[in-house]
Amino acid sequence: MSSPWSKVSAEPVQTANLADIMSEQYAHRLHDKELKEQQLRQEKQMQTVATPTPSYSNVVDTSASASSSDAGAWEDYSMLLNLEEAQQQKEPLPGDILTLLQDEAESDAVIAQMLQSQFDHEYNEELRRIERQQNKQSKVTVTLNKYLRSGDAEFLHDTEADEDYEEDELAHRKHDWDRFETNEKILDAIPKCGFKLDKEGEMITKHDPQLCGVRNAQRVMSFPPEFPTGDGACFDMKLSNKVFNQLKAYSRRGRADRKEKVATAEMGVDAATRLLLYKLINNQILEQINGIISTGKEAVILHANSDASYTGTNEHGHGNGVLMPAELLPKECAIKVFKTTLNEFKQRDRYIKDDYRFKDRFSKQNHRVIINMWAEKEMHNLMRMQSIGLNVPDVVVLKKHVLVMRFIGDNHNAAPKLKDARLSAAELSCAYEEIVAAMHKLYNEAKLVHADLSEYNILWYEGKCWFIDVAQSVEPEHPSGLEFLMRDCANIVQFFERRGLPNIYTKEQLFEFITALNAETHNAAMLERIHTRGASINQATVPNQLECPDELKPLEYPFELAWEKSQQEREAAAALRQLQLNDEEAKQEQADEQPEHTEEVKTKLNNDNTAKCVQ
Ligand code: ADP
Ligand code: MG
Repeated sequence: MSSPWSKVSAEPVQTANLADIMSEQYAHRLHDKELKEQQLRQEKQMQTVATPTPSYSNVVDTSASASSSDAGAWEDYSMLLNLEEAQQQKEPLPGDILTLLQDEAESDAVIAQMLQSQFDHEYNEELRRIERQQNKQSKVTVTLNKYLRSGDAEFLHDTEADEDYEEDELAHRKHDWDRFETNEKILDAIPKCGFKLDKEGEMITKHDPQLCGVRNAQRVMSFPPEFPTGDGACFDMKLSNKVFNQLKAYSRRGRADRKEKVATAEMGVDAATRLLLYKLINNQILEQINGIISTGKEAVILHANSDASYTGTNEHGHGNGVLMPAELLPKECAIKVFKTTLNEFKQRDRYIKDDYRFKDRFSKQNHRVIINMWAEKEMHNLMRMQSIGLNVPDVVVLKKHVLVMRFIGDNHNAAPKLKDARLSAAELSCAYEEIVAAMHKLYNEAKLVHADLSEYNILWYEGKCWFIDVAQSVEPEHPSGLEFLMRDCANIVQFFERRGLPNIYTKEQLFEFITALNAETHNAAMLERIHTRGASINQATVPNQLECPDELKPLEYPFELAWEKSQQEREAAAALRQLQLNDEEAKQEQADEQPEHTEEVKTKLNNDNTAKCVQ
């Protein structure tokens, strides 16, 4: 009877415990076994001898034979790790495995070296960038060569090609800076007249767009480090004045803000003034404001550097109100900021408020307008004095109440005032002669009286006297002109007297020398006294008196004093008259009381008098 079931294999069923089945080793072993069986089957089928595919078991087998460690499918890793050891011990390794391992090791080393090389290259590039940034156009160059890493691009580029590349790059960079230098030379060679003919007879001006464009590109390279400009040297960059100015304004925004803050804190100028100062910087007239030279009751004097890049016009083609050609712009400037909150004005308010004549008309008016007038007056007076050849600071620009002029002094050191200058006897004498001549010239040619002339407002610089602080100067026709002149004369004479200079004028003589008027006749000394009692110099010399609001007009001191004086005179006259009257009355009374002379006595007295006359 045939059984429907095939014959049951007599082979005993292999038992395996669960832990074995679950183990990874066991799984590997089964897998390898299966592979082996499959391989054998294929071999049989193809009847050919084939190289077995590498498998864990191969490795395990070889490793088993090569090492004494326990056989395990994962021993290959340890074998890899022990490769070096194995090689050192010259233990035989099957050729294919060795090649494989060597290949892998070599490629790893190459990858590591390449990575290192790449890193070195990038590191060196960064160093070179920092180097370039630091050196810029500086004549002293800094090199960071000693920090360069040696493995740079060794494995990245073909060495020769790399050298060529670097040489090219250097040459290119040099060429770019040469381009800037050549450009600068051409511009420098243009004379003051502003143009020059080149070899071909073509006219080049200092405003040539090509030259200016390259120069602007060069300047952009020296912007502050926080302003990213890129490397404009490595291509033929040109920037128009307009673009350059905008970039420059942008690059300076932060810096100007910082300066502005310093100015507020340290220089005590108000927001409106700060804005004006900022505009002067922004318009490329000033480069920077350095600090205070002097703070007075009426003005703050600041020191500033002018902007060397000022070309005479801004991007809109305006001169920004600068009163001199760009090439004459002084390197160092003094900025006179007229204070907009004069105590004196406040005091004057009070004074005027209490004055019955101004009671109805008193109102608060814009003080700034008046202050601007003061600044303008100083500017006009300086220019007028300069036009007749007196030594005064050149006016650079006037913006409202801010007057920029030449700085009298060197390297941030202001020239000393005459009172502080150490003068030899000869220099003192020279200074005296110079001042007397200047006062004469000022009165007769410029038709001005300084009105605040003293050793405080004359600077001693390069062996000469320089006259400053002329906002209050007036024409001799001014109602107080002669009084001011007399006071100036008094100040000057007094100074030289104190210094012991012999043979000098008295103040009256000096007055007469200047005006050809006799001081006594014109009673200048008396007027001077009247002025001193009346208004201050500022009140009396306030500019543009017609437009000046009433509360800021000088007090009409002669009115009060004249009134006072006339009252006094009247009283004195009345008193005198009274005295005379009293005298007469007394005499009369005396006469009335005395008995009348007899006819005899009268005749006798007459005879006596006649006898005396004959004698
Ligand atoms: P203030 O009305 O306050 O007296 P000044 O015009 O006399 O103003 O200036 C005050 C001081 O500032 C002067 O005594 C002088 O030392 C200095 N100063 C003014 N102008 C200049 C200048 N152009 N160059 C150098 N120093 C100056
Ligand atoms: Mg002064």
